[in-house]
Amino acid sequence: MKTASVKLKRQPVYESEKRCPESCSNNDSEEEPPGRRSISDDLEEEPPGRHSICCVLTEEPPSKIATTRYRFFRDIPDSLWNDWKWQFRNRITRIEQLVQFIPLSIEDQAQLRLVTMRYPLSVTPYYLSLINPDDPDDPIRKQAIPSPLEMIMGSMGLEDPLDEKRDTVVPGLVHRYPDRVLLVLTDICPMLCRHCTRKREWRNGGWVRSPAEVEAMLDYISHHKSIRDVIISGGDPLTLSTRHLESVISRIRKIKHVEIIRIGTRFPVVLPQRIDNELCSMLAKYGPIWLNTHFNHVREITPEAAKACDRLLRSGVPVNNQSVLLRGINDSVEAQTKLCHGLLKIKVRPYYLFQCDEVQGTEHLRTPVETGIKIIEGMRGHTSGLATPTFVIDLPQSGGKVPLQPNYILAQSEGELVLRNYEERVFHYRNPRTPARTESPVEALCPAGRATAGLPQEGTANLG
Ligand code: SF4
Repeated sequence: MKTASVKLKRQPVYESEKRCPESCSNNDSEEEPPGRRSISDDLEEEPPGRHSICCVLTEEPPSKIATTRYRFFRDIPDSLWNDWKWQFRNRITRIEQLVQFIPLSIEDQAQLRLVTMRYPLSVTPYYLSLINPDDPDDPIRKQAIPSPLEMIMGSMGLEDPLDEKRDTVVPGLVHRYPDRVLLVLTDICPMLCRHCTRKREWRNGGWVRSPAEVEAMLDYISHHKSIRDVIISGGDPLTLSTRHLESVISRIRKIKHVEIIRIGTRFPVVLPQRIDNELCSMLAKYGPIWLNTHFNHVREITPEAAKACDRLLRSGVPVNNQSVLLRGINDSVEAQTKLCHGLLKIKVRPYYLFQCDEVQGTEHLRTPVETGIKIIEGMRGHTSGLATPTFVIDLPQSGGKVPLQPNYILAQSEGELVLRNYEERVFHYRNPRTPARTESPVEALCPAGRATAGLPQEGTANLG
C-alpha cells in the first residue's frame, strides 16, 4: 500500500483565531459568552482542524478526471480519504495551502488573505476535489473560496438580518415561532460557505456549547409545552462526535411534548464520509428525526453524497434539501432543474429554495427576487411538483419565511378566476363560493338548482 505524503503541522482552527490588525473591525468582536469552551475541549474523539495537508501536485488535464482527487490527493489512501476525521483535520484553512490547489496570483493571494482575516476560509479536501481549479467561475469554487467582493461590498447588508439575537431566549436557543425552536450547539462547520447567514459567528473562532448551556436550553424546552419541533442546526451539529450528539438528542427525545427533531447539516454535501453507520444507528434510535441538508449545485451530487443520503434514508431519517439561490452558481432554470432532478434521483426532496439573506459579505452572491420567481415559473409544470422547491424569503427583523411564486391569476370576479397555465394558455375557472349562514348549499353553490328546488332565480326575487 502506498504511504500518504501528508505533513502534519499544528494549525489554528480558523485563520481568524490570529488577531487582526487594529484597523480590522474583527477586533471589536463580542467577548466569548461565559461557559463556552473551545471545540478541542469537547470533541473527545477528534480535535478538528489541527493539521495542514501538503500533497504532491501532479499536473493532469482536468478533462481527463471527474474530480481533482486523483490530481491533488493521489497519495492519500482510501482508508484516510473515507475517514471523516481525517478530512476534518486536514481542512484547508490558509491561503498558503489553497495555492497548492487553486492557481492564484500574488495579488489575489494578498487580497484573499485580507478577506480571511474577517471571513475565514475552511474547505474539506473532499469538497476541494470537486472544484475545477482552472475555472475561476466554477460554481463549487464560488461557494468555498473567498472573494475580494466580500470586503469590497462588505458594508451592504446586515450582520444578523434575521435578528436571531432578538429571539434568543437562552444562549444557543432561538424561539421565534410558537411551536418550534432552533438549537445551536456549535458554530463550527467543516466548510465555511461564502453565502452563510451566520457569517457573523465565524469571528468567534469556533466554540461548542458547554454542558451548563445545553442544560439551560433543555430546561427551557421542557418548560414550554408549545414546543413540538426542535431544530438542531449550525454551525453544523454533525461536527460533534456521535457520542456528544447522542447525549443531547437522547435528552430532547425524553421531553414528552417534543414530537419531532430536525437536524440541519451540510455534511452530506461537503463531507459525506461523516454519515457513517455509527451515526445512522444512533439517529435511528431517536426518531422521528428529519434531516435538512443543503445542496446548491448538481455537481455536488456525487456517489459519496448519494451514499450518505441513502444511509440516512435506510435508517428512517427523511432527507430534504434547502438550497440557496446564488448568483453565478445556480441562478438559472437549467441549473435548478438539474439540481432538483439529481436530488430526486438520490431520493432527497427539494424542499426550499431560499433567497440569499442580506448578510454582510454576501452581496456579490445575491440575486434579484425576480430571478427566483422566474426560475420557479420555468420549473412549475415543466417538471413535476415534487421536483419544484418552494421559493422563500426569510424576512429580516424576525418576520419569518414568506413563500413567493409567479402570479397565475389574470383576473378574478365573484364566481370565476381567469388563470394562465405554464404554457401561457388561459382558462376560466368556476369558483365555488362559501354559502352565507342563511343559505342552503343548493342556493349558494348551484343557482340553476334554485328553480328545480322551487326557489326564485337569482336576481328575480323582487320582480313581483
Ligand atoms: S454549513 Fe450552513 S452554517 Fe455552516 S457555513 Fe455553511 S451555510 Fe453556514
